[in-house]
Amino acid sequence: MATAELVAEGSGIEFGLSDEQLAIRRLARDFAEREVDPLVDEIDEAQRFPRELMAKAGELGFLGVIFPEEYGGSGLGYVEYVLVVTELSRVDPSVGISVAAHNSLCTNHIYKFGNDAQRRRWVTPLARGEKIGAWGLTEPGSGSDAAAARTSARKVDGGWVLNGSKAFCTHGSVGDTFVIMAVSEPEARKGHNLSAFVIDRGTPGLRAGKKENKLGIRASDTAEVILEDCFVPEDQLLGERADGFRQAMAILDGGRISIAALGLGTAIGAFETALAYAKEREQFDQPIARFQAIQFALAEMATRIAAAEALTMAAASEMDRTGKVTLKASEAKLMTGEAAVFCSERGVQIHGGYGFIKDYRAEKFYRDSKICTIGEGTSEVQRLVIARQMLKGA
Ligand SMILES: Cc1cc2nc3c(=O)[nH]c(=O)nc-3n(C[C@H](O)[C@H](O)[C@H](O)COP(=O)(O)OP(=O)(O)OC[C@H]3O[C@@H](n4cnc5c(N)ncnc54)[C@H](O)[C@@H]3O)c2cc1C
Repeated sequence: MATAELVAEGSGIEFGLSDEQLAIRRLARDFAEREVDPLVDEIDEAQRFPRELMAKAGELGFLGVIFPEEYGGSGLGYVEYVLVVTELSRVDPSVGISVAAHNSLCTNHIYKFGNDAQRRRWVTPLARGEKIGAWGLTEPGSGSDAAAARTSARKVDGGWVLNGSKAFCTHGSVGDTFVIMAVSEPEARKGHNLSAFVIDRGTPGLRAGKKENKLGIRASDTAEVILEDCFVPEDQLLGERADGFRQAMAILDGGRISIAALGLGTAIGAFETALAYAKEREQFDQPIARFQAIQFALAEMATRIAAAEALTMAAASEMDRTGKVTLKASEAKLMTGEAAVFCSERGVQIHGGYGFIKDYRAEKFYRDSKICTIGEGTSEVQRLVIARQMLKGA
């Protein structure tokens, strides 16, 4: 049996998955195949954010996988979270990234750095799926160099006034709860100048700007978020003042595991589509799967998926065990992102001309895969993080 079939159908014994974890994977797979799959082409073409699917995902606990039940979550760990995001992304990476950004960026930031009152007020409705979360770090002038953000947070009586704009914010136009990083200490050095704030949709001065018209993951909402004299009360500062950059980097460690799961699911989806097509399509009086060139492409895809899965599961279990995963999360994200792009490109090639048209999903996986080498730190940035971790103290 091919590796990806093992991933999709296998026992999970190779990663020591428990019966409960296998049941969660089955639940996510059933949801993806029964509820998500019929909508995939429509929501991609229309660039429609499927709020109804997110509501159903919320009912199944997928919008609060990693948060304690006390705060409306499912009380599970990163291994379960990876299984859920992988299964969703295997069918639709748009839904996979929405669930990932909601859980591990916005909600996790409030859970990890908020106080009890903030957790009860914001984490609970987010984890239950009653609200959709967005997280704004990137700006038009600061992406990889996130510490160069310019959105300002000016201290006033009783709170802060925010001005600036955030770019490429997942759920920027559909989100209910926003975590925004802004410069609260303009005189401090880079990395010590940002604070993090939680802000509700509808707060005067916060609005969505341009919704992006994207290459892939088109059903996942991505928009600019504009802050104009937006007053944020003091009790909406998350954690310590000036700690925002450190918080954001810690959040990205966990986030990168979920983007690794997104890449893994995308690679598996592209592989399965290509494998099925290769067995069915005949040329020269035989299935194209008989040609060694096609077999080698499938073998290479399956091997990269196996490596990507091993690194993703290693990062997830390390996170569950120690909570410290900077190196492993970056390794997993780098490997899975590149595997997703490789597998989806090979998938199109195996489909020949049919890979180039929208009647087959190969084309969509190809477009969707590219975000995996860009979002939450590009592949180049992952290499920088890995190298820095290796050279620590040198
Ligand atoms: C669909 C989508 C959703 C997103 N969602 C969110 C979100 O919810 N919240 C959020 O805050 N952000 C989000 N982002 C932003 C994303 O994280 C950034 O796009 C990403 O970090 C890269 O930043 P940039 O686009 O400014 O590229 P740049 O930083 O300008 O990079 C351009 C190129 O230069 C390379 N480069 C930059 N610095 C170095 C270096 N030191 N060494 C080597 N190469 C380098 C990069 O790897 C890249 O190839 C999203 C982006 C997209 C496309």
